[in-house]
Amino acid sequence: MAGTYGDSTRSVKAVSSEPIPGGPVSPPPVPASAYHLPPDEDDGLDSYGRRSNPTWRQLEAALAQLEGASAALTFGSGMAALTAVLRVVALPGHTLVVPADGYYQVRAYAGEFLAGRGVTVAEARCDEMCDAARGADVVLAETPSNPSLDVVDLHRLAMICRSQRTLLVVDNTTASPLGQQPLSLGADLVVASATKALSGHSDLLAGYVAGSHAELMDRVERERLLAGPILGAFEAWLVLRSLGTAGLRLERQCQNAAAAALMLRSHPAVRAVRYPGLPEDPSHAVAAAQMRRFGGIVSVELADAAAVHDLVRRSELLVASTSFGGIHTSVDRRARWGDPVAPGFARISMGIEDTDDLLNDLGQALGPG
Ligand SMILES: *Cc1c(COP(=O)(O)O)cnc(C)c1O
Repeated sequence: MAGTYGDSTRSVKAVSSEPIPGGPVSPPPVPASAYHLPPDEDDGLDSYGRRSNPTWRQLEAALAQLEGASAALTFGSGMAALTAVLRVVALPGHTLVVPADGYYQVRAYAGEFLAGRGVTVAEARCDEMCDAARGADVVLAETPSNPSLDVVDLHRLAMICRSQRTLLVVDNTTASPLGQQPLSLGADLVVASATKALSGHSDLLAGYVAGSHAELMDRVERERLLAGPILGAFEAWLVLRSLGTAGLRLERQCQNAAAAALMLRSHPAVRAVRYPGLPEDPSHAVAAAQMRRFGGIVSVELADAAAVHDLVRRSELLVASTSFGGIHTSVDRRARWGDPVAPGFARISMGIEDTDDLLNDLGQALGPG
């Protein structure tokens, strides 16, 4: 039965506590740096807050369940999770492939910190990933890519990686585990930011790693213990609290994105639209095969930077902010952060507002074109 549950049911079940009579239905946070040590010196119990925490464990069990992994580890941010994994798997002498069109700070970390330590860093766009993977030791793929929403064929990439013993790590932030499960498509590890749609309220940072290779996950956990990029207990609890509504929020965000993409593609002020859910989008066929939903982000290209600022200024609902996946619809002009996109390129992250309100607002804010 569990395998046939829908996403909202799975989200709610993933964050339920044990049915102890008189106990709380929703798990409370456990803020603790130190725990009582038993006289038999049992190492399996919680001892110190950088090693383990009961609220992490609950969140990790929920995340593992949603990703289809046997284990998950939480971190203080998506970058904390990503860089911990890279330190564990990308060793001196290795060739590491990172996305050329994905999250820019991952590229920056690889170039500024790993390249100087004997790792050969190669950059590849989504459409180049499968070729770039040949001969690499570690491949980090991001799909759909942030912000351009190109898609990597994960099954094909995983087959190439497996055939030559290349480790495949997939950044699952943009789609979220309710949008796609990279491990089921052949990835070795999933890394993601829970700052975005999973927590979804634009009020915390968190990240996680999920996987099913026990030895690999042990090494990542050891790295977390020693380097210490941990998640606070309250933030872990807030993510857990938010996971219960993730299915509901994502459903509305995807519905808003699909409706907005259709409206935007025929608007005269819009030069180009990218949304994997549009049948004519270059990513559509692969996205339809590997994703369960197309996500809440639509990328558009307007005339110039001023047109993006005008859009926000004339709107009553859009907020200008970076990041995505929150309850508010937000607009981010990506060229300001150095992404290789046109000055009028904007990433629009759909919130959970009513679809008609959002379409009307977007329409009037874009003006006649
Ligand atoms: C935001 C983001 C990250 C980094 O996550 P933080 O929680 O901000 O550290 C990594 N990858 C992708 C695709 C992202 O969108």
